[in-house]
Amino acid sequence: MKYCVLVAYVPDTASIIKIGGAGNRIDEGGIKWIISPYDEFALEEAIRLKEARGGEVTVITYGPDRGSTGLRECLARGADRAVHVMGGEATFGDAFAIARVLAAAVQKAGPFDLILCGIKGVGSDQSLVGAMVAELLDVPHVSGVVKLEVGEGSLTAQRDVEGGTEVFTAPLPCLVAAHKGLNEPRYPSLKGIMAAKKIPIETWKPADLGLDEAALGGAEATSRWLKLELPAAKAGGTILNGEEDPAGAARELARLLRHEAKAI
Ligand SMILES: Cc1cc2nc3c(=O)[nH]c(=O)nc-3n(C[C@H](O)[C@H](O)[C@H](O)COP(=O)(O)OP(=O)(O)OC[C@H]3O[C@@H](n4cnc5c(N)ncnc54)[C@H](O)[C@@H]3O)c2cc1C
Repeated sequence: MKYCVLVAYVPDTASIIKIGGAGNRIDEGGIKWIISPYDEFALEEAIRLKEARGGEVTVITYGPDRGSTGLRECLARGADRAVHVMGGEATFGDAFAIARVLAAAVQKAGPFDLILCGIKGVGSDQSLVGAMVAELLDVPHVSGVVKLEVGEGSLTAQRDVEGGTEVFTAPLPCLVAAHKGLNEPRYPSLKGIMAAKKIPIETWKPADLGLDEAALGGAEATSRWLKLELPAAKAGGTILNGEEDPAGAARELARLLRHEAKAI
């Protein structure tokens, strides 16, 4: 079986975000970059399937130079092959343009039996790229998967929905978007880190995929980030000292919740 995992390399969720540029991008100075957490579930699932049934795991990212660091980490965790499509500045934030590049990369690197991605790339959180790649590749797509079984020529996938679960079957090849709970991602081992250093990362440009990146981000662009705003600063909290008079503090808490916060 051949597995492909789409991996976005994104700002660490613990980063302190500042707005930079023309007010429509974040200031990338001092940001730590990580594999998007939902993509870690996708990668872990592909590696487990390979370990159980044999096969090969290819990881693909589309983005600037730093993406290679993320791919190296994927190789250290157990991926076999890594493809870096360099670029992304012109198409930043445009899910359809990104999906066109990734779909073309999957086609060039494949064929694959199963393509996995995260349910969302943290940072922009649009949950669009996976479905768009599936549509462009003309394969079925199951999103938000928390349990996956792959059989001969088909898969069974489970999703959590409000108050219950949904179970889907789909023929292979198929694209699955992983959700939290699918598995517990592993950390790279020292042996894996050493082995990963010997695997060359294949580096492509959108032009190698027959795509004009300037056009994708220009005349053919479908969306742009116009403006970013940080949430309003939070007011300081109220501390009730309950050590000397717990009953009085509880009365005051109830009063504040009822009359000020209007929460009860
Ligand atoms: C400030 C900032 C800088 C960023 N820099 C990078 C970067 O250097 N490299 C990078 O890869 N991403 C980067 N990202 C993330 C990237 O821009 C987003 O993944 C992209 O905009 C798609 O977002 P989305 O919400 O439409 O993706 P979603 O539709 O939410 O993504 C769903 C899934 O699609 C796949 N996917 C999405 N984008 C990519 C991609 N570019 N490559 C491979 N798989 C992908 C992932 O599996 C992801 O979980 C950055 C995001 C921000 C906010």
